[in-house]
Amino acid sequence: MVRLESVHKSFGSLEVLKGIDLVMEREKVTCLIGPSGSGKSTLLRCINHIERINSGRIFVDNDLVGYTERGGKFYEMKERDTIRQRQQIGMVFQGFNLFPHMTVEQNIMEGPVGILKVPLAEARADAHRLLTRVGLAEKATAYPNQLSGGQKQRVAIARALAMKPKVMLFDEPTSALDPELVGEVLEVMRDLAASGMTMIVVTHEIAFARDVGDHVVFMDDGRIVEQGAPSEVLSRPSHARTQAFLRGVL
Ligand code: ATP
Ligand code: MG
Repeated sequence: MVRLESVHKSFGSLEVLKGIDLVMEREKVTCLIGPSGSGKSTLLRCINHIERINSGRIFVDNDLVGYTERGGKFYEMKERDTIRQRQQIGMVFQGFNLFPHMTVEQNIMEGPVGILKVPLAEARADAHRLLTRVGLAEKATAYPNQLSGGQKQRVAIARALAMKPKVMLFDEPTSALDPELVGEVLEVMRDLAASGMTMIVVTHEIAFARDVGDHVVFMDDGRIVEQGAPSEVLSRPSHARTQAFLRGVL
């Protein structure tokens, strides 16, 4: 479960998150939608403390993100503890961010072997299990530049899963893909959701949000305007801003 309490985030004088209160349930898929610049990516980046919030609190499974509390005061965590916390949060971006000089299986094994100290044979077996799961068992020894965009993104998902995260954050994972490659990535995400992974997905794929999302959150200008079941927010939005946004993307 991921919980945000009164989260504020500014870049200089620009306030990007203007008090976000949000609960994202365990084993559910929460889809974040909203216009460009509304703060969706910033919100995701705050959850894994890539961005430091100005005020408020964020919890992942009841662990306070980025800070320790002592005597009623909050202190920023040591880098080492932040890194450990971040390992529990998988992140998949729009760009694929694979290491170009490593094979697919090396990309996937890097984190488990280098950071979690998983024995090589076990990490390799895990990598192959994950590659099978994303439909790429035959690509283990290929290099990223030998893969299509959809294949690269499926490897990126496998690589995030190899760290056995508690929650997976996706930031527009299909928006850099050619249209014919979008489906294969959404299919992998759909399977992941069905397996009970807790997922937070920033997406413009309204059909995906409707079919796979358990909860939809519409953001505009740093605030949550409306949230609820996909059947409500996407089919019967109650706010004019949500209605206008959906008219634009559907
Ligand atoms: P998009 O749909 O285009 O990806 P978004 O909802 O993800 O938009 P954010 O990337 O969170 O929006 O950006 C929110 C606002 O914060 C924008 O006005 C953006 O210019 C600004 N912003 C984001 N990152 C920074 C930064 N590192 N420094 C300064 N301003 C930033
Ligand atoms: Mg964004």
